[in-house]
Amino acid sequence: MTNRRNFLHTMSSLPLVSGLVASEVVEAVAPTGRDYFKELGVRPFINAAGTFTALTASLMWPEVVAAINYASKMFVPLNDLHDAVGKRVAELVGSEGAMITSGAAAALTLGTAACITGKNADWIRRIPDLAGTGMKSEVIIQKSHRYGYDHAVRNCGIKMIEVETVEELERAISERTATLHFFCDAEPRGQITAEQFAALGKKHNIPTFADGADVLPPTENLSKYIKQGFSLVTFSGGKGLRGPQSAGLLIGRKDLIEAARMNASPNGDTIGRGMKVNKEEMVGMMVAVEMYLKRDDKAEWKEWERRAKVIADCVAAVPTIKSEIFVPPIANHVPTVRIKWDKATLNLTAEQVRKLLREGKPAIEIAPSSSPARNATQEIGVGVWQMQPGEVEVVAKRMKDVIKKA
Ligand SMILES: *Cc1c(COP(=O)(O)O)cnc(C)c1O
Repeated sequence: MTNRRNFLHTMSSLPLVSGLVASEVVEAVAPTGRDYFKELGVRPFINAAGTFTALTASLMWPEVVAAINYASKMFVPLNDLHDAVGKRVAELVGSEGAMITSGAAAALTLGTAACITGKNADWIRRIPDLAGTGMKSEVIIQKSHRYGYDHAVRNCGIKMIEVETVEELERAISERTATLHFFCDAEPRGQITAEQFAALGKKHNIPTFADGADVLPPTENLSKYIKQGFSLVTFSGGKGLRGPQSAGLLIGRKDLIEAARMNASPNGDTIGRGMKVNKEEMVGMMVAVEMYLKRDDKAEWKEWERRAKVIADCVAAVPTIKSEIFVPPIANHVPTVRIKWDKATLNLTAEQVRKLLREGKPAIEIAPSSSPARNATQEIGVGVWQMQPGEVEVVAKRMKDVIKKA
């Protein structure tokens, strides 16, 4: 056990070690000597996918884990900590106010609730039962921005009003409008840009809310939407930021952050009481933001490009396979590998590749979506930014082997 631990420790202190046995990379033993995942029969895998929630997204910075450990040993007044961490994070990202939430989805609920109830104690108790109270009951959104996460907005009891053009949006605004909601990744799909959207909110004096949960990196996006004039912005804590997976950030106008806090735990009889954030996550998220701002983003980007090239080159050495490196424009804006082949020349479906990688040793998970088996062209995606040192070479080799065997 000790030898193995030393080995792991030595290894994690080396920046880039290639050619290591990856099962050693993904298995670890706790200081108590227990291997919990092994005991439970849950298999760790190499993350060749990205920051997918169901795949546990990203790994926390060691500094975040240290902060969590630190905070776990003492009692503090939770609201004082909430205030102080919010103040520090607001300074770091350049917004009036900030709060730690239990994820970006919780921030969508709390931020929207804040725009509906303000600081009205009676309304805070009544939400999501809006009828007959005088509370605002509608959120305006571009049709192309509708998404699964808007359920977190609808939790507040509001109705989504879909629009497509600036004219339609202005016509839809009424005394019932609580917020104008914007999904950052959908910007290219809509007719109204982020900048125009924020300006429309200002013009009509209605809060605008940007969901930027998955837009980090680049670093500047942490303050971009606030600078554009959005009233509220959320980021997921457990994706690019590498904070606790069940934490997130809500940043923006001070009065709205105060109202969101009133709608949140530890306050009872609120819409947010079930969205509890503990002291460990609060300090952990603060440190995650600090680390995120301190990291060398250019060096990180170069390393991701190198990894993408290792995968792309390795599989492209197999005739009939085409690979390309692309960078999604807004969300998950990182070098990513797309691998394609013709089913007629290579008798293998994307799902078969996924299964073989998942069930091999070490287990590897690639990006969740892939082409249906009936398609003539089969396609898979490989994300490289959540891989650990030494893993990319293992993934490249395994992928080549899987494909060659077919
Ligand atoms: C992941 C995600 C969320 C939810 O974030 P959590 O931190 O997991 O709650 C919300 N919106 C978008 C666009 C996301 O990608």
